[in-house]
Amino acid sequence: PSLDSANSEQVDFFHEGQLVGVWTTQPLGRRLDYKAPEGGCWLGAFVEVPLGPRKVLGVVWSAGAGDYDYAKTRKVIRALDVPPMRGELREFLEKAGAYTLTDMESMLRLGVRAPGLGDPPSMRKIYRKGENEPDRMTEPRGRVLDALEEYGDLSFTLKELSETAGVTSSVVKGLVKLGAVREEDTPRDLPFARLDPTMPSKDLAPDQAEAAETLKSGVASGAYGTTLLRGVTGSGKTEVYLEAVAECLRRGRQALVLLPEIALTAEFLTRVQERFGAKPAEWHSGVTMTERRRTWKMVGQGGAQLVVGARSALFLPFRDLGLIVVDEEHDSSYKQEDGVLYNARDMTVLRASICSAQVILASATPSLESWANAQAGKYTRIDLTSRFGDAVMPDMRAIDMRGVKLAGNRWISPVLKAEVEARVALGEQALLFINRRGYAPVTICRACGHQIGCDHCDARMVEHRFQKRLVCHQCGETKAMPEICPSCEAEDRLAAVGPGVERLAEEAAELFPDARIATLSSDMYGSARALKAEILGIAEGAADIIIGTQLVAKGHNFPLLTLVGVIDADLGLQGSDLRAAERTFQLMRQVAGRAGRSAKKGTALMQTYQPEHPVIRAILAGDENGFWSAEAEERRAAAVPPYGRMAGIILSSPDAKEVFDLGGELARLDGPLRQIGAQVYGPAPAPIARVRGRHRVRLLVKAEKTAPIQRAIAAWIKQVRVPPQVRLSVDIDPQSF
Ligand code: ADP
Ligand code: ZN
Repeated sequence: PSLDSANSEQVDFFHEGQLVGVWTTQPLGRRLDYKAPEGGCWLGAFVEVPLGPRKVLGVVWSAGAGDYDYAKTRKVIRALDVPPMRGELREFLEKAGAYTLTDMESMLRLGVRAPGLGDPPSMRKIYRKGENEPDRMTEPRGRVLDALEEYGDLSFTLKELSETAGVTSSVVKGLVKLGAVREEDTPRDLPFARLDPTMPSKDLAPDQAEAAETLKSGVASGAYGTTLLRGVTGSGKTEVYLEAVAECLRRGRQALVLLPEIALTAEFLTRVQERFGAKPAEWHSGVTMTERRRTWKMVGQGGAQLVVGARSALFLPFRDLGLIVVDEEHDSSYKQEDGVLYNARDMTVLRASICSAQVILASATPSLESWANAQAGKYTRIDLTSRFGDAVMPDMRAIDMRGVKLAGNRWISPVLKAEVEARVALGEQALLFINRRGYAPVTICRACGHQIGCDHCDARMVEHRFQKRLVCHQCGETKAMPEICPSCEAEDRLAAVGPGVERLAEEAAELFPDARIATLSSDMYGSARALKAEILGIAEGAADIIIGTQLVAKGHNFPLLTLVGVIDADLGLQGSDLRAAERTFQLMRQVAGRAGRSAKKGTALMQTYQPEHPVIRAILAGDENGFWSAEAEERRAAAVPPYGRMAGIILSSPDAKEVFDLGGELARLDGPLRQIGAQVYGPAPAPIARVRGRHRVRLLVKAEKTAPIQRAIAAWIKQVRVPPQVRLSVDIDPQSF
């Protein structure tokens, strides 16, 4: 490695044979000593090291401890030809690991999630539109050319192009022979197109301009700071934070925008293209492996100025990160619930404070955590109170379902039906919202009452008619719909109970036979591209009625949409979760905000059986501050987050007795917790008591806000021996409590 590929602020170099301490991606629980390789290596270098008979990936973290026989110490095989991990990323991984009580190896795996990292640069073939028209146009050929036309700025591999067009690769090859498609060799890891931050912005409204100035001066300070950018849907938050991105890019620093949902990236990419003349790099599960490796490398080399991505983008090796935007910051998908349990919003603030970057948390309905941090003065708060231009917030009304008589298997009330018909007659769009995927949540036997459940989880199987399967939403297990009841073997007695988005679509098709109906649910599209195409089509008016799940609640812009009908506004209020009110309030506000985003005023109608419920009333009144203050009071009184600390300990094992015994033992050994004034509750069955054949129990730890909860928990769980088949995971700041 040459000097200029190393971090400028550190010159720690290890000569061949000097001892280095390496964290590997293998769960060993400690750093290992190696001798620096031939040619030496930098602190932070990504290295391949021998481990037993294997080669594993690691990062040079420090000088070696030297507590092992030097002669027997093995040598680093090679340092990879990528920039060393910067000190600030190493510090971030260490601190994030300490916060979430996660071992370094697992943290490191988050930081090196790029396949083929050490491979030499290779070439690949990509396909673009060629000069010639094919002499004979067939339907499949037309689809290939259409795909190239539509996504002309993307480079397709053969596989991507044939999949997008829905043709075999020989169709593409045939077009290449005719010169209608061009085949080019390109290096796999090219820098991204330059974004031009000097392009003119839109004319901002006065409150937008003021917000943009505040954000820009934050970026210009070059120091850490967090701003909560709060504004109703359509107020121009995106427009405003793109100004901060522009400022960041003008200063030569990199920016990262996190979005909660992959489906939102398509629209965002288009906006970046309009604002800066090129598209940013992408990082999420819908991006191909090769493209991800390219992004990973270019982020490190400065060949990517702006990245838009999912929460894991936070662990990319940025060269000089100056701004992180967390859009829809309240969204629960920022919490990773598998493997390392972290909340990307909170980790963003940590990462930014380490690398002197600005954070913008944008939301129409902030989390209570961020709201409280702004109240406490830790975050700057900016409010955009009006919608841009002539757009106004929709009228919100309840439809009291208590007196409504509906036939079995019907969920759309006559009032809602009439409103939808009126909109469609005017050429406007209506959205019917239900927060449930699939056809029906329950399949029950009318003869014996048996409900079909998952064999591995404590959950019902959900019928998905579109996929013609029963699906477990916990573990993803699917099975065919049985012909006879698995319990009493009665024939033809299995019935669907309750509504899901697919069933609602069926009802809508019957009620509105002449309308064009589009159903948007994340599991109904084979690829991100197909979903993107569907969303763009709807935005342009290809549907009269949209039936959708949570997917449509998040940020899509449908200018023709003037009516939102919520089928079951009470759905989220069931259960005992203390966050239920907050979630329902946010979701209902988000959904309602889809209506009337252009000049025409929108209407949001909520079907509810409890119109007097305080949360429903706050939603209808649009009284955000009132809601947040009341909710804050309740949480304060209960001393729960954000006014207290909580952590969940989940124990899981195939053996139920084993986890309850271990949970009981932990509950008795609560000394380290009592020392910091914390209490432990449980063990109790976890919210989902069995997943993938593993029984789960949970203990909840509750402490004062300033208590050193991580240290106490670490000391606490060290007291017990965890049997081999038991998994213990710590969830700091759990989502439900
Ligand atoms: P939010 O992110 O708060 O939902 P957006 O930034 O998406 O709001 O703005 C809503 C719509 O209004 C978008 O179509 C956007 O392009 C448009 N818009 C917002 N501000 C302006 C402006 N100053 N000039 C022109 N169009 C604007
Ligand atoms: Zn299951």
